[in-house]
Amino acid sequence: MSVETQKETLGFQTEVKQLLHLMIHSLYSNKEIFLRELISNASDAADKLRFEALAKPELLEGGAELKIRLTFDKDAKTVTLEDNGIGLSREEAIAHLGTIAKSGTADFMKHLTGDQKKDSHLIGQFGVGFYSAFIVADKVDVYSRRAGLAASEGVHWSSKGEGDFEVATVEKAERGTRIVLHLKAGEEEFADGWRLRNIVKKYSDHIALPIELPKEFHGEEKDKPTEVEWETVNRASALWTRGRTEVKDEEYQEFYKHVAHDFENPLSWSHNKVEGKLEYTSLLYVPGRAPFDLYQREAPRGLKLYVQRVFIMDQADEFLPLYLRFIKGVVDSNDLSLNVSREILQKDPVIDSMKSALTKRVLDMLEKLAKNEPEQYKTFWKNFGQVLKEGPAEDFANKEKIASLLRFASTGDDSGEQSVALADYLARAKEGQDKIYFLTGETHAQVKNSPHLEVFRKKGIEVLLLTDRIDEWLMSYLSEFDGKSFVDVARGDLDLGKLDSEEDKKAQEEIAKTKEGLVERLKSALGEQVAQVRVSHRLTDSPAILAIGEQDLGLQMRQILEASGQKVPESKPIFEINPAHPLIEKLDGEPDEERFADLSHILFDQAALAAGDSLKDPAAYVQRLNKLLVELSA
Ligand code: ADP
Repeated sequence: MSVETQKETLGFQTEVKQLLHLMIHSLYSNKEIFLRELISNASDAADKLRFEALAKPELLEGGAELKIRLTFDKDAKTVTLEDNGIGLSREEAIAHLGTIAKSGTADFMKHLTGDQKKDSHLIGQFGVGFYSAFIVADKVDVYSRRAGLAASEGVHWSSKGEGDFEVATVEKAERGTRIVLHLKAGEEEFADGWRLRNIVKKYSDHIALPIELPKEFHGEEKDKPTEVEWETVNRASALWTRGRTEVKDEEYQEFYKHVAHDFENPLSWSHNKVEGKLEYTSLLYVPGRAPFDLYQREAPRGLKLYVQRVFIMDQADEFLPLYLRFIKGVVDSNDLSLNVSREILQKDPVIDSMKSALTKRVLDMLEKLAKNEPEQYKTFWKNFGQVLKEGPAEDFANKEKIASLLRFASTGDDSGEQSVALADYLARAKEGQDKIYFLTGETHAQVKNSPHLEVFRKKGIEVLLLTDRIDEWLMSYLSEFDGKSFVDVARGDLDLGKLDSEEDKKAQEEIAKTKEGLVERLKSALGEQVAQVRVSHRLTDSPAILAIGEQDLGLQMRQILEASGQKVPESKPIFEINPAHPLIEKLDGEPDEERFADLSHILFDQAALAAGDSLKDPAAYVQRLNKLLVELSA
């Protein structure tokens, strides 16, 4: 071993320490995955080298055959993984093997509970990568040299996985990375050719590089050569280049874990070879769960881009719209040039047509999942439904298709879960119903009991109940589905169309006439607070209700805008009264103008509360109510 110079000891970033601690204590049930993670990194390193060598062939230093070699030493209790990929410089080793660069990591760590079971679930979501070496090793040595640097500029990184690591500059003749795992007591089983071969076959068969182990000789060993003979253990061809029928489900699943840095299986995938004007292969996956940074603006997203099998970049986000940012996978194009850059991708018309084709593929895959595996689709919806709801605003062309994938809570389903598809809703629609009715609000409990639903309950008409923050905004982009328009039941002058009989309508008009005097009195009592007062046909049980003007912002949008500090245009509600309610009858007969005004204000405020709004002057409400209560008990 050559001399080590510029030796220093550095501390791990706090998050690394937390991750290491957690990993050692919670990933004990599936230890062998450390090898998958390290092989995955080595394969990425080979991809990176091949990519950089496109512009600088000298980086290959004459050795173009990229591979991974795995050896072990039973006596020394070590397992060694060596690649001839891009390698690490001293600075890179310090940066990449001492910190975690993912944004939002510190935030993520705060979610850890100390409960090992829960945390091991979380940690899978985060991805452990290189640090998983410490699941089986109590000391890890990394010897590396970045391609293009001199042999004297190698780095030796070493750590026991506790608080710190050492780095030193060493001589390293070959470019690439060698990782030596000093196995913990009790983990010696991994220093075994048969075991390693099995793990490689199980998790890393899909890796496109050859993974070699020394050939083993059994029985009569007199023929055993003195030189090591290497044997490729994996299939060593890019998985997506194989035919669909040749690839087993398990292989698709393991490949997913490699590209997505996920620990769990995907929910679904779609593998397609496109030939004709454009030629490319895509392999797209729907993950089984949301990554911790799904809602972070700068979080990485997008596909792994290859051009004619050569890796070009990670996180190519030009191939799918933002509302499908959770999709992982690979796209391998035959049309793009090998020196394609992000800037070129953004302008290339080829990308536009690939993007729209890939978008369709994903939507088709989701449709299939919904149809064939409703339970899986439920999981999908729980994890990604909110993101998919961004779709109709972003992707006009696929609006109808996206709408068919949406799921809603509804008065037709007591579970309160978002499980009703628009097609289900229409299939159950009443005779003569040509609208899709919905109500938005803060919480399920609130909308479920909203007075706005009274007439719908009476007539047995289903109403969709929308309580996600994004819902009102979503509905402003969805005007119809399957030719039926959406109607917000809290908005405007509710017209039930054919669902109200001619007699109903006549009766409503007649009652409205008899209450004209009351309506006028209410208008002057409530004054500026209301846009309009009218007789309602929305109500059966409640005395009064607030409707939103046809063009006005709803409560949810108003609150979102207010919270983000924007000026919200002023809008006044429409106050509707239930002429059949005893309180309204009493009000109509109230001769005392002051009591009339008090009662009107109380009814108005109550209607605002029932709509989930807050009162402008709560103290005045309480005073008026108390005044009435005192009179009552007097
Ligand atoms: P991730 O792979 O998710 O980025 P890891 O913790 O697995 O996270 O690895 C951290 C970084 O260390 C990698 O992004 C890469 O830059 C570097 N690295 C790990 N293994 C190798 C390797 N065999 N060759 C070169 N660089 C590597």
